[in-house]
Amino acid sequence: MKRIPVSGPSITEKEIAYVTDAVTNCWYENANLYHERFERAFAAYIGTKHAIALPSCTSALHLSLLAYGVGKGDEVIVPDCTWIATAAPVSYVGADLVLADMDPHTWCISAESFAACITKRTKAVIPVDLYGNMPDMDAIRSIADRHGIKVIEDSAEAIGARYRGKPAGSFGDVGVFSFHGSKTITTYEGGMLVTNDSVLHQRALFLRDHGRKPNDRYFFNAEVAQKYKMSSMQAALGLAQIERIEEIVARKREIFAWYREALAGVAGVTINAEAPETRNTFWMVTVILDPRFGLRKERLMDLMAEAQVDCRPFFYPLSLLPAYAGTKIAKLATSRNLVSHRLSPYGINLPSGLNLTKELVVYVVDALKRILALHPKA
Ligand SMILES: *Cc1c(COP(=O)(O)O)cnc(C)c1O
Repeated sequence: MKRIPVSGPSITEKEIAYVTDAVTNCWYENANLYHERFERAFAAYIGTKHAIALPSCTSALHLSLLAYGVGKGDEVIVPDCTWIATAAPVSYVGADLVLADMDPHTWCISAESFAACITKRTKAVIPVDLYGNMPDMDAIRSIADRHGIKVIEDSAEAIGARYRGKPAGSFGDVGVFSFHGSKTITTYEGGMLVTNDSVLHQRALFLRDHGRKPNDRYFFNAEVAQKYKMSSMQAALGLAQIERIEEIVARKREIFAWYREALAGVAGVTINAEAPETRNTFWMVTVILDPRFGLRKERLMDLMAEAQVDCRPFFYPLSLLPAYAGTKIAKLATSRNLVSHRLSPYGINLPSGLNLTKELVVYVVDALKRILALHPKA
């Protein structure tokens, strides 16, 4: 039997047609055609005034911090459990990282922990819509507003998610998305920055093109800055994907529903939550085991791999990574972020690719059940 991959996209004739059209026709005066169409369609979907297509979500985060002038002496609050891409740009701009704990239900940043992390130096918070779910955005927004803190919403994993009817990515002063091949919609590599802040938008356009004004015909750079652009072929692929977004999100939710049904009645297993006011898009279907099984995520991944099922570990707390080992940030976070450090060791992401069938989901869950049966709870 073939290995079941952990993630993967849905590509149809539409994507192939758009990319082919881009390669064939998008030169000379048409070089930016697909960028404009992709950005317009994306902004319309999120409901923001502006969208800027970028080479990655990492660059979108970097650009957001640069454009808000975050730098040396400033602090930026990030959830402890996330992909390192959320945090690395804080170091790129020379600011200090502060790691907040997660909420035990949403697995996203806890509003109380965020509030407790605020100091006079806090400039921004980067809440993450983890695995397609949403944090308590009302609480985060009101705490941030009270302290004059910018909210940069990392929606890399949550295109299509909603909180009280509003789309993921529209809660921050800036929202950022990823189109990496593993994400819900893809351009192979790619990202998007969305915002209603027209000043921020202009500043980001300037910084992402080597510090020159849009439409500057003289190549007359005013500042040393970044070069962050997406290719026409990627923009064409992205346009086709965003035009299919509701179909793709419906598919993600269907895959999750198959898992929920197959896992019903399996004791000691917690799966992704969906609060009543939230639409979760289940980027990664995730299970967290009761620690009494005595099965940590690394061992569980190995056992699943023996059954030809590829899984990923629940994000390690950043404070546990060698990348931050020995830092003051990591020591403080390790003693403070008890929920992150309690849940993360027992979580894995199950295959969540858009090519899954109900039969494959049942196979994955049967493999998990067999493993659990061999590890009775202590
Ligand atoms: C994937 C991801 C990113 C980074 O996206 P890239 O496009 O690979 O740069 C950032 N934040 C989170 C939460 C992610 O999952």
